[in-house]
Amino acid sequence: MSDQAARAGAILSIDLEAICANWRTIHARQKTGSQTAAVVKADAYGLGATRVAPALLAAGCRRFVVATLDEAIALRPLLPGAEILVLSGPFPGGEAEFHAYGLLPVLNSPAQVGGWAAFARERGERLACVLHIDTGMSRLGLRHDEARRLSEDRGTLSAIDLRLVMTHMACADEPDHPLNQLQLERFTAARAFFPGIEASLAASSAVFLGPNWHADWTRPGYALYGGNPTPGQPNPMGQVVRLQGRIIQVRDVDASDTVGYGATHRCAVPTRLAVVAAGYADGLFRSLGNRGCGHLGENRVPLVGRVSMDLSIFDIGAVPEGAARPGAMIQLIGPNNTIDDVASAAGTIGYEVLTSLSPRYHRDYLEGAAL
Ligand SMILES: *Cc1c(COP(=O)(O)O)cnc(C)c1O
Repeated sequence: MSDQAARAGAILSIDLEAICANWRTIHARQKTGSQTAAVVKADAYGLGATRVAPALLAAGCRRFVVATLDEAIALRPLLPGAEILVLSGPFPGGEAEFHAYGLLPVLNSPAQVGGWAAFARERGERLACVLHIDTGMSRLGLRHDEARRLSEDRGTLSAIDLRLVMTHMACADEPDHPLNQLQLERFTAARAFFPGIEASLAASSAVFLGPNWHADWTRPGYALYGGNPTPGQPNPMGQVVRLQGRIIQVRDVDASDTVGYGATHRCAVPTRLAVVAAGYADGLFRSLGNRGCGHLGENRVPLVGRVSMDLSIFDIGAVPEGAARPGAMIQLIGPNNTIDDVASAAGTIGYEVLTSLSPRYHRDYLEGAAL
């Protein structure tokens, strides 16, 4: 263990090989010929895009997806030979930077399409881009009538080099939701406006809806990082993240002692508490107060009282004496307490658990040899 890990209040272990294995698992689920991009927006869901994306490149991934131009610029030199799609697309006047860095803008509105086409005409070359069509999110993307109008606009289409037509599913984590089929039908109709162009519908969960959603490319994010893309079913993905918080202090408390701000927990019997060096400033949500838990070995230890900014408190009364000393680690995320478990205790989704993981954690990246 490095000196820094030895003195860290909490250690976040990120298994890069498991991320690559998850990417291969997703790819293997898809119909023949359907390729698999990797969504590495939001710093690869909080896990560190500059480590995650090159690992996926080495695993064979050739198309990456980020949300913003700055995310793409940071990754561009690390991903030679790969495409980087930028979901936000250019802001007005921002087209030149996309081109200078060799990025693929996702064009989400007639205005963005117009801006890209104008820029391409100015340069005198057809410039590559992705077209986003909205089929049920009312978020980004052209409406059906806007897509039809574009398909009739030969001038604009001849200025751009359309590489992919995509849409985004609203309810793919609910396989029986009627919007899944409806979005597929709407997308099939809109796609027909652009014959011969590759298509993409599926993020993590939609891969599991079946081959109709696989199209030419899928765009998983969450599943790569170990999140369950099939809520309510066993998780087909391998665990990627482990978070351990170090015990600063162990203390004995009497029955009726109260714990933490607001005195929201009162000990029913004399017990022992472990105070751990991680709090809401580290992404341990305040909503986990009196709801979350950790694990000491195989023992589940409930999180008692409110979560403080830098500290959280666990009732370790059930743990054999001596097993929990200052300096020992309580597992906050791991095989017994997955990101989806933490999310459900906190009243949120695992995506938010991941993207809230703090830069204050000591980060330990596990690569092939380290496993
Ligand atoms: C975030 C995002 C994805 C990835 O979604 P996951 O559910 O994490 O797999 C794919 N496509 C778009 C447009 C997104 O915004």
